[in-house]
Amino acid sequence: MKELHIYIDRLKTGQIEKISESISSDFLEIDEQDLAFDKIFKIEAEAYLANDHLIIQFTLNINAFIPCSICNAMTKNTLKVDNTCFSIPLSEVKGAVFDFTDEVRSTILNLVPSFSECNQGNCPDRSLVKKYLKNPAKDESSKTKDVYFPFAGDNFFIEL
Ligand SMILES: [Zn+2]
Repeated sequence: MKELHIYIDRLKTGQIEKISESISSDFLEIDEQDLAFDKIFKIEAEAYLANDHLIIQFTLNINAFIPCSICNAMTKNTLKVDNTCFSIPLSEVKGAVFDFTDEVRSTILNLVPSFSECNQGNCPDRSLVKKYLKNPAKDESSKTKDVYFPFAGDNFFIEL
């Protein structure tokens, strides 16, 4: 897989490092029956230094597949991240290379919906099971809770 590495030294003369890569979603390390992602997705990022901070902005699109809440068919959900920005004090960047894989992973996982319905929200089975759907949200949120986890640290922020 390709790695999301920023070489700090290259930025020290005020340059902006641009990344435009198609990368494997393997780094998400998701191995669950009820959650899958596009194998390959495109990410664009820009990194630069400002006020003793490393600033990284990234944009990506990835499809997440989760079961339809009604019929259980795997359903595509397009997750979009548009110029999300985070910053890290340079004093906290260890070494010459900063790897922002964790930030990308957290951002993607936080966008995965807790439930989904196939056929653009019009599951063909909806009318068949309507009477059993008094409170679908409750079940679904407990089922998918374990795919959420907090950011790896509190030394950066994410604006969505
Ligand atoms: Zn369905």
